Amino acid sequence: MFHQPRKRFGQNFLSDETVLDRIVSAIHPKSEQSIVEIGPGLGALTKKLLPLVNKLDAVELDRDLIPKLQASCAGLGELIIHQQDALKFDFASVIKNKQKLRIVGNLPYNISTPLLFYLLTFAPYIQDMYFMLQKEVAHRLASAPGNKTYGRLSVMVQYYCTVEILFDVEAVAFNPKPKVDSAFIRLVPYDRPPYFANDFDLFAELVNAAFTQRRKTIRNALGTFISAEALESLNISPTLRPENLTIEQFVRIANQL
Ligand code: SAM
Repeated sequence: MFHQPRKRFGQNFLSDETVLDRIVSAIHPKSEQSIVEIGPGLGALTKKLLPLVNKLDAVELDRDLIPKLQASCAGLGELIIHQQDALKFDFASVIKNKQKLRIVGNLPYNISTPLLFYLLTFAPYIQDMYFMLQKEVAHRLASAPGNKTYGRLSVMVQYYCTVEILFDVEAVAFNPKPKVDSAFIRLVPYDRPPYFANDFDLFAELVNAAFTQRRKTIRNALGTFISAEALESLNISPTLRPENLTIEQFVRIANQL
């Protein structure tokens, strides 16, 4: 069944069998686990995962794809398709027997950042997440302090999860070929974040303010939040730049406000 890929849904279908097999072995699904796939598309990955878990929830926005997805997965197991926007989907609603979810997907790149932020609100329900992302976004997610790519996305995601880039994937692995290279990553939410922000919204606001002025020293970038003296008293040099602060230091500042 032919499907004309839709750009507005970020449809770049994975067509490289070797990459698909690497993804499946990285996820290493077991039959009793609850897997939720975001954006199954024509089922390239779904077809491989479904027989291993017998039952799988999939969230797909494009209703035209659904009959093709059903056809390609027929007889492989119980595929429960939620024809919905993953940005609005209630992931907690598919939890069964209090079992945490394993969320996987070759994500539509146009919504990957808001989707990651949205998924973090479900962190307590998630065992792990495996995503194909634009390589540049993957590297920002995994970045450590001191790097040019370290920013708001790195701090906010790493507050909740460990982030690991598993492998890079070239654009030729997809059809149609995207303009950018990709990377496959693993995110594992902490049972308990190693540093706890007493007021999470304030922490998020602080991180946002810091990185909108990332070239300034934190004395200036965070001047409306905290004085240079107060930073000194937290043992944090006011002459550092936001990209040099660890998550622990951001949390320490937020907890002082
Ligand atoms: N998993 C398939 C593969 O690897 O070949 C398709 C991946 S394609 C990059 C992204 C998929 O996400 C498409 O099937 C697209 O229709 C779907 N999608 C786009 N926006 C979505 C949204 N907001 N919620 C759920 N699915 C979405």
